[in-house]
Amino acid sequence: MIGRKAEGALSGACTVVVGCQWGDEGKGKVVDVLAKDAELIARYQGGANAGHTVHVGDRQVVLHQVPSGALHPGKRCLLGNGVVVDLGQLFDELDELDARGIDTSGRIGLSARAHVVFPYHKALDAATEEAAHRKIGTTGKGIGPAYEAKTARRGVRVADLLDPRRGAEVVERGLEWARRRLALLGADPALAGEAEQAIRVADRLPGLVADVGAEIADALAGGRRVLLEGAQGTALDVDHGSYPFVTSSNTTAGAAAVGVAIGPTAIDSVIGVVKAYTTRVGNGPLPTAFDPEMDERIRELGGEYGATTGRPRRCGWFDAPVAAYAARVNGLTGIAVTKLDVLDTLAEVRIATGYRLGGETGVAFPATDWELEGVEPVYETLPGWRSATTGARRLRDLPRQARSYLERIEELVGTPIAMVSVGTRRSQVITEL
Ligand code: GDP
Repeated sequence: MIGRKAEGALSGACTVVVGCQWGDEGKGKVVDVLAKDAELIARYQGGANAGHTVHVGDRQVVLHQVPSGALHPGKRCLLGNGVVVDLGQLFDELDELDARGIDTSGRIGLSARAHVVFPYHKALDAATEEAAHRKIGTTGKGIGPAYEAKTARRGVRVADLLDPRRGAEVVERGLEWARRRLALLGADPALAGEAEQAIRVADRLPGLVADVGAEIADALAGGRRVLLEGAQGTALDVDHGSYPFVTSSNTTAGAAAVGVAIGPTAIDSVIGVVKAYTTRVGNGPLPTAFDPEMDERIRELGGEYGATTGRPRRCGWFDAPVAAYAARVNGLTGIAVTKLDVLDTLAEVRIATGYRLGGETGVAFPATDWELEGVEPVYETLPGWRSATTGARRLRDLPRQARSYLERIEELVGTPIAMVSVGTRRSQVITEL
């Protein structure tokens, strides 16, 4: 029975919301729904390459750097040390929210240990992709080079910029390194820009810096609820995803503790977000890809264009091996199925129940991209429901066939469904299952 065992999954003290496919699962919507009962919402990884689209009333807001919880008046939103932050983008978004009448003052906190993305990282991103033998299809936002600098111990952190003299020094070193690398890649070193351009908004930082881990620990100790919001998805995790066509950070739930400076024992609930079908943006294999006609149809119905780049997303059937793998890697306590309504007009729906590879069946999500490229999904076909689900607010409002589809997903993923989303609006959700 859908949701029965998921009781409590939505009411954890410290809940991680993690994408369980190739990103764009609708995490923003799920966080938005859960945010009303939380006091703190913190992002634990990623940068301005993630685009959360949130609809509030008739307004559509795309947030790249500000946590989507910022749209809830009174909530405090934090960016943890695991995030790489584009300060220009962050302040632009905060100004835009303020212009729309959403007061964010005193509600945003940024870890001093977070690394900063500068224009020179974007120049490096473009030049690296241009020179690459295998193109990853990055968003060009400088995220990869910023994480690379972090791991190579030449990154610039928010803390550095709080001291203007020291900040200018470390930025200059970063710039110098970027100029040399650009020249090596055959690009114009001048593309790295100048220090003033890089640190133009640093003076706005002092009001934002926060001890993210301590704030979360205090909230939890006081019995208040916390949400930890991931970006991208499990299949894009730098370790667990379809390497090398992945993002440059750990997206999975384990990274949540590291990325906001709390211990793993503080987390008591992990909600995995899956779309009722699958999409992928950027390069790399997509085993359950639709044929071109169906691809086009679902892309239009689901509005499957990147929130950051506007690039069309490739679409496919629900891939249970990916979601089941994500359930294990993230230790899911519940799943949130989004965009069920996008399938409303289909006569039949298919689910990939497993993979076949070189005559072998029951193959798990493989470690290499060439194996993932070679897998053949084993499909099960179920009847469609051919009626609108957008008005459903309880499970019993859904057509029988839609419930069967969800039950099958739950069975194959091995995790109870805790939420079903049936539209873009905040109210279009089923949480009483
Ligand atoms: P995220 O990065 O995981 O938050 O995902 P995106 O924001 O990039 O993509 C989710 C898109 O799907 C947004 O435009 C949402 O408004 C939309 N969305 C979320 N849930 C639903 C749903 O249940 N139905 C429909 N039709 N759209 C949804």
